[in-house]
Amino acid sequence: MVRASIGSLSELGIEKVRMLAKPTTVYILQYSKRGCLAGCKFCPQSATSATCKDYVSRIPWPIVPLGEILKRIKGRGNFARMCIQSIIKPEFENEILKIVSEIRRYGIKLPVSIALTPVESSFLYMYKEKGVDYIGVGLDAATPEIFYKIGKPYSWNKYINFIDRAVEIFGRKRVIVHLIFGLGEKIKDFVYTMKALYEKGCEVALFAFTPVRGTHLHDLPQPEILKYRIVQIARFMLSKNLKKIPDVEHLAQALLTSGCPGCNRPFYNETPRKIYNYPNAIMLERDKAKLIKEISTALEIVDINKLIG
Ligand code: SF4
Repeated sequence: MVRASIGSLSELGIEKVRMLAKPTTVYILQYSKRGCLAGCKFCPQSATSATCKDYVSRIPWPIVPLGEILKRIKGRGNFARMCIQSIIKPEFENEILKIVSEIRRYGIKLPVSIALTPVESSFLYMYKEKGVDYIGVGLDAATPEIFYKIGKPYSWNKYINFIDRAVEIFGRKRVIVHLIFGLGEKIKDFVYTMKALYEKGCEVALFAFTPVRGTHLHDLPQPEILKYRIVQIARFMLSKNLKKIPDVEHLAQALLTSGCPGCNRPFYNETPRKIYNYPNAIMLERDKAKLIKEISTALEIVDINKLIG
């Protein structure tokens, strides 16, 4: 059994929900009755949180037999990728191997990402050998202080060392570090860490903090949208190695969801009224006039060139 995002299941015809934007990746999450043994204070999957384990961020993730998902993916051409999100439980590294083997046994040729906490390099080699092409790393916090405050497992240094090993094994731009903005960090510290990660050869997938009832951080508000826009613009410029600010129209691309190719995570952090990460170009175009105003204001608030150094 695994969990899968409600959007993925709806796209596969297993559940029925009305969707403003369709997921372009099938998102699967490892299942454990107790939840994840890590104690991340923002996450409903953590065994330490009092929440129902059916959620990650704002999205329900029902429990489904893996075979049911794989049977339906075959023959449908509407996905660009599969993402296996891990939890910490006994033998989770081996279970991921089994999941990837099953995907291939069903004849599914989609590229596969794994979102991981630090594991031994031997597992990374085995995942790569099975055709996994991108690794996501849930560092989540942009500074060591926030890292410890939000209860991440292991140590900051262990994560950084894991990121370095993953880049060595999977190659530059193939390791996508997940960072959550809105956990109490300063913009300049957040951008400093993004820059350091890009210098290591990583990419950054940006998330906006989203409070979930029953978690330890349920009282913390979501970040201000303009601050998030600043961070999105900085990430976009670092990713494209831009030294000059492009025109505002072009900069609107910075507001699209960042991550592995084909990963759009629709409404993972947002409501239809407050969109942090745009899941597709159609929605971006629909809101373009408003977004151009937001970007222009963001650029008046900070000197982006100075910020990204
Ligand atoms: S960026 Fe998207 S596809 Fe890649 S690991 Fe993260 S959630 Fe999965």
